[in-house]
Amino acid sequence: AKAEGRNTYRLFSDDMAGETQERQKLKADLRWAIDHDELHLVYQPIMDMQTRSLSSFEALLRWTHPERGPIGPDRFIPLAEESGLIGKIGLWVLRRAARDALAWPAEIALAVNISPLQLKQPGFVLEVTRALRDSGLPPTRLVLEMTETALFDNDALTRQALTELKALGATIALDDFGTGYSSLSLIRDRRFRQLKIDKSFVDGIGSCRDSEAIVRGTINIARQMGFRIVAEGIEYASQLAWLEANGCDEAQGYLISRPMPEKDIAGFILAQTHL
Ligand code: C2E
Ligand code: CA
Ligand code: CA
Ligand code: CA
Repeated sequence: AKAEGRNTYRLFSDDMAGETQERQKLKADLRWAIDHDELHLVYQPIMDMQTRSLSSFEALLRWTHPERGPIGPDRFIPLAEESGLIGKIGLWVLRRAARDALAWPAEIALAVNISPLQLKQPGFVLEVTRALRDSGLPPTRLVLEMTETALFDNDALTRQALTELKALGATIALDDFGTGYSSLSLIRDRRFRQLKIDKSFVDGIGSCRDSEAIVRGTINIARQMGFRIVAEGIEYASQLAWLEANGCDEAQGYLISRPMPEKDIAGFILAQTHL
């Protein structure tokens, strides 16, 4: 039993070392990626349910690793946060997306994901202001998506940044709503104007009474507080119909469109009178 224990231990510790090395390598590669054109953005449309028209595009980051191929943001954003690269990457995203959006053939809003760590960096709001000014994109076209965890610790820098971003004219959206710890108390904060219901709840529509009750309740409360409500991860027409019947304002998901490369956007915008 003792020998077995030791083996188990060694295996475990080898794994840990392997994981650490792997992560270190990826972090170093990510540093390189920023300056060598390995990152790019794709955009997923968000539809206004009432007018059946395009309301905005959400910018989503992609990394094509030269040896490993595509690596998803769920994997590399945490690495960027751990290694202190997120500020640089986040700014790159904002600048590139703002520049892209200005060239679109209609004045459609642009949503960008913001990491909690970016919000805490002194000078962040100034950098947003500069990025907007340099691109010429009006702040009113910008939606900044932040998760509840971004706002959970509620420190002074975060609070100040939120106030300034709102004053600038940007819309602040609560992303992945319902998955954090502080959901209901957060929506009393008047700095937020939009709320995105997380895909995990949308998934349950049509099959899970509890998910439906949560979504219905969230929409009712949020509406009364003046929020715009967006549902993400819609894959089935039945989900879309249910959300529409229950008062959701905007819809996003593969059913409407997968994220698309920048070069397809103008065509997408021009091709549709409605979605
Ligand atoms: P998110 O903000 O919740 O973005 C929605 C994710 O769901 C995206 O995954 C999108 O491609 C995917 N999605 C949209 N509709 C559907 C659907 O109908 N079915 C399914 N199965 N998936 C759908 P993606 O692009 O892999 O991004 C994952 C997460 O990475 C994002 O979640 C966001 O938290 C983060 N992320 C992406 N880009 C950035 C960025 O530029 N900055 C930061 N800080 N985070 C980012
Ligand atoms: Ca998002
Ligand atoms: Ca989301
Ligand atoms: Ca989500």
